[in-house]
Amino acid sequence: MGTGNGDIELAGVTKSYDGETFAVDGINLKIPDGAYCCLLGPSGCGKSTILRMIAGHEDPTHGEILIGGEDVVGLDPVERRTAMMFQSYALFPHLSVRDNIAFALRVRGLSKAERNAKADAMIEKVHLTEFANRLPSQLSGGQQQRVALARAAITEPRVLLLDEPLSALDEHLRIKMRAELSRMQRDLGITFIHVTHTQMEAIALADMVVVMDQGKIRQSGPAREVYAEPKNRYVAEFIGGQNVISGKVSYINGTRATMAGATYSNIEIPLANGKRLEDGQSLDIAIRRDDIDLVRAGGDLPDGSTSVEGAITGVEYQGTFVKVMMEAAGEEEFVAYVPERRFFEESLSIGDRVLAIWQIDHAHLLA
Ligand code: ADP
Repeated sequence: MGTGNGDIELAGVTKSYDGETFAVDGINLKIPDGAYCCLLGPSGCGKSTILRMIAGHEDPTHGEILIGGEDVVGLDPVERRTAMMFQSYALFPHLSVRDNIAFALRVRGLSKAERNAKADAMIEKVHLTEFANRLPSQLSGGQQQRVALARAAITEPRVLLLDEPLSALDEHLRIKMRAELSRMQRDLGITFIHVTHTQMEAIALADMVVVMDQGKIRQSGPAREVYAEPKNRYVAEFIGGQNVISGKVSYINGTRATMAGATYSNIEIPLANGKRLEDGQSLDIAIRRDDIDLVRAGGDLPDGSTSVEGAITGVEYQGTFVKVMMEAAGEEEFVAYVPERRFFEESLSIGDRVLAIWQIDHAHLLA
């Protein structure tokens, strides 16, 4: 997929700023050349520190960082052939779009004619030709971002590092620029590593999502895997869209088992291939919010399904679906995304007792 040895490997990487606590704590990660990788996690979990160590703005306390198979620790950013795009864009206010984009080439000693030719080709790539002579202050937020991207890409890096690149934009523009980042990455064919704390941004953009928590990786993989098959409660809750229920195995019967908790006794769970369960074992399961159907308590269960009873505590209309919040299975917020038409057929409201029903095989066993 990629074009230039932009595969990255972090091996046993730790970073401590104060010698006591670890901002990054024993990270092992391989990012293939040409991948769009998103580092996702809450503020302070170490994402930017990883980015800065790959860029060469910070050294790891321990561990190796390889780009294209070469250990780059100690090399400066230019030698690493990485480029960074910052959240604030950091454009020069007194330089035109063209001069901003050509700036890095001047530093590298190219002639004016060479600089302008390269800059104009890049300007065309980011669709800014008609704005080439404007100052940054005469551009919209989205256009400024394209300048920042072009300015980083013009040095032909093998890895482009983006630190919260969309967070300064309003919601509408963020979604537009998200698509543009994706297009640019495909055009350039280089590895992108994009730091974000926004789940949907990571899921929409990345070939590879790396979910972090307190300096550690909790799961990494394709977006769909991280979303639909979270490995643990942390990932399920952080990525969202799932309900997590804790309980103990109370009965095992061939291909199915029963789980019980303090407030329920008979949730049926699948025995996933390869996973061994034992009587009395504690476990967490995840059920997607959009896999849950609601009926009034006392209603029938379709074949192959299981349920938990609870009371509706909130209803939010979302257009294509209705978000129904309830207290169930000992979870303070158990949520069902009910298709709009289906919700209004049942005419449920706050305070009603309902059965949250799902297909037994749709439950996902967490580690
Ligand atoms: P994120 O990008 O996920 O928000 P950071 O990598 O910025 O996280 O920070 C990880 C941890 O390291 C935080 O606890 C933060 O306070 C600390 N940290 C980051 N940069 C520095 C620094 N230059 N000096 C000391 N501590 C830092």
